[in-house]
Amino acid sequence: MGVFAEALCEGVCAVKSDVTSLIHELAERHSLTLDDYESLITNRTQDSARMLRDFAVRERVRIYGHDVYIRGLIEISNYCRNDCLYCGIRRSNSHCQRYRLTPEQIISCADEGYELGFRTFVLQGGEDSHFSDELLGGVVREIKSRHSDCAVTLSLGERPRESYEYLRSCGADRYLLRHETADRTHYSMLHPQEMSYDHRMNCLHELRNLGYQVGCGFMVGSPCQTARNLAQDLKFIEEFKPDMCGIGPFIPHKDTPFRDFPAGSAELTCYLLSIIRLIHPPVLLPATTALGTIDPTGREKGIMSGANVVMPNLSPVSVRKKYELYDNKICTGEESAQCRECLNNRMRAIGYEIVTSRGDVKL
Ligand code: SAM
Repeated sequence: MGVFAEALCEGVCAVKSDVTSLIHELAERHSLTLDDYESLITNRTQDSARMLRDFAVRERVRIYGHDVYIRGLIEISNYCRNDCLYCGIRRSNSHCQRYRLTPEQIISCADEGYELGFRTFVLQGGEDSHFSDELLGGVVREIKSRHSDCAVTLSLGERPRESYEYLRSCGADRYLLRHETADRTHYSMLHPQEMSYDHRMNCLHELRNLGYQVGCGFMVGSPCQTARNLAQDLKFIEEFKPDMCGIGPFIPHKDTPFRDFPAGSAELTCYLLSIIRLIHPPVLLPATTALGTIDPTGREKGIMSGANVVMPNLSPVSVRKKYELYDNKICTGEESAQCRECLNNRMRAIGYEIVTSRGDVKL
């Protein structure tokens, strides 16, 4: 290579490694290389975060205006057959007080939510074999028949393809299944041996093929996570193009093997929210409860970084503390109406507005 070409290459490489040019490239092309995603994370500064946020909010406002979609979260069971090392409701946590809601309780939470303006209900829980296809299908059908203008989202982990298919036929519209990490080795550090990275990824593809709106996601700052792992998560999102993407900081739970690991940060979570908005601009992106737990104004910061969804809790107050995935989870004491009102005020205060809408993805 001639001296001139070498100098040119060095110049180009210098610009490329510059975070500012990476942000411009991402905003234009919605894609970066794995190395560039890693560099965007590793070399971030307050200035780059501000710039990224500005681009992300511009995209968010272009597609969704200042609307914030709400999802009513109904935590139907904390029984779980899995033993994920990070999770407070893992099978081997003997301190966890187990509960499951009855179909009547679930339906009544949805009815109450409907009155409060919710048009999406998320039924979430551990992998609890009590919730057979028949039982769940009946609940989904009932909610859909009472509230035909609503969407039902399921977040119940890995189930056989036939089960996903049956629940879809009962009216379920969306499915949230965080991939947790897009790195096979990292996955095996977070999960017991019997859990399979390939199986989880395969579930996501099956859900998509069955016509669900699909959500993936991961924890920020989970034990042993590297910037490279996060870059892999971003590359996966770029390729999979999920309809929804749930990310929140890892927060340790006192009764898990990860009790002594540090929590993830709100700062990096918000930075990643902005990146994800630019990778796939129409994505439905929640400012999660975990983000609000790690930082009292975390959900506001999330929205101001490009998120457009919040997921207040509609579970009966009597069980909320028991669905403890991590320590000090917020909003476990308030009635649903209070949570709704509180979030209304919080969103208004930053110039956004909660809307009564199913809030489907705008492709
Ligand atoms: N069982 C379903 C599943 O596997 O998708 C849904 C329930 S699971 C408890 C919901 C999500 O909580 C997980 O995907 C995980 O990312 C998150 N989570 C669990 N433990 C957490 C922790 N300690 N800190 C932050 N998020 C956590």
